[in-house]
Amino acid sequence: MTVPTVQLNDGNTIPQLGFGVFLVEPVEAERIVSEALETGYRHIDTAAIYRNEEGVGRAIAASGIPRDELFVTTKLYNSDQGTQSAYDAMQLSLEKLGLERVNLYLIHWPSPAQDRYVESWRALEQLRKRGQTVSIGVSNFMVPHLERLLAETDTVPAVNQIELHPYHQQPEVTAFGAEHGIATEAWGPLGQGKYPLLELPEITAIADAHGKSAAQVVLRWHLQQGHIVFPKSNRRERMVENFDLFDFELSADEQASITAMERAGRVGGDPFEVK
Ligand code: NDP
Repeated sequence: MTVPTVQLNDGNTIPQLGFGVFLVEPVEAERIVSEALETGYRHIDTAAIYRNEEGVGRAIAASGIPRDELFVTTKLYNSDQGTQSAYDAMQLSLEKLGLERVNLYLIHWPSPAQDRYVESWRALEQLRKRGQTVSIGVSNFMVPHLERLLAETDTVPAVNQIELHPYHQQPEVTAFGAEHGIATEAWGPLGQGKYPLLELPEITAIADAHGKSAAQVVLRWHLQQGHIVFPKSNRRERMVENFDLFDFELSADEQASITAMERAGRVGGDPFEVK
């Protein structure tokens, strides 16, 4: 089964479906990521602050999968924003992952209270020039933060990774991204299990009609919206379920009925406030 790829604005491509490891315990990371790689995932989304890069790296090394068949993302945490601190954080992440370079390095949050995201972005431009990351992007950036990067620096982010699920679709940010060639990555694609998305009758009725699960319907909605997704699960059977999205298609009406569920229902932090 071949996962479709999304073309990035720097000429590189990214698998549209991957595996996320937020809240994967460090001691469990190697086992869980190994199972994800066995399932077929070739795109792993981690972050320095998840404290599981070492386990991710061990799973990658043990898998024997050629490096050029894997897409690995990690992120610069808020406390490491700056120039030298960003260089040091990248180096540490690479050491923990056991890699010479990642495919994608993101500024994790804009952290506007620090007002260092433009400086940090220039550091990421340098890290890309040095070959420590292939592509660079941002996460949790809202329109004013993106506008500043576009006005004050030379590189348009390849992606913006934002909280995005049927209850919180961020139409302004995704439209801005589409206009400027910034691909949208949807974090918390299943709403992190924090509201009963997978039990909503609108979703379960669509699932029943296709003989698929509610989670598969929500993930399929993301793919058809053009989002890049990397659902997380500690459980092998759910890894398999979340990877099995390519033998059905939502109709335009089904897609629209899920899009109509928007209610600005954020489950994570507010990007304007997170420090
Ligand atoms: P998700 O929306 O992927 O939801 C994960 C939750 O859903 C877990 O509790 C999991 O439980 C459960 N789940 C997974 N699959 C199924 C299924 N098929 N049926 C029922 N329940 C299921 O949330 P995440 O926050 O993990 O988001 C995905 C990834 O996005 C993260 O892992 C991380 O890589 C990234 N992320 C980025 C952020 C950022 O600020 N940039 C913030 C948050 C996440 P169980 O494990 O028990 O199966």
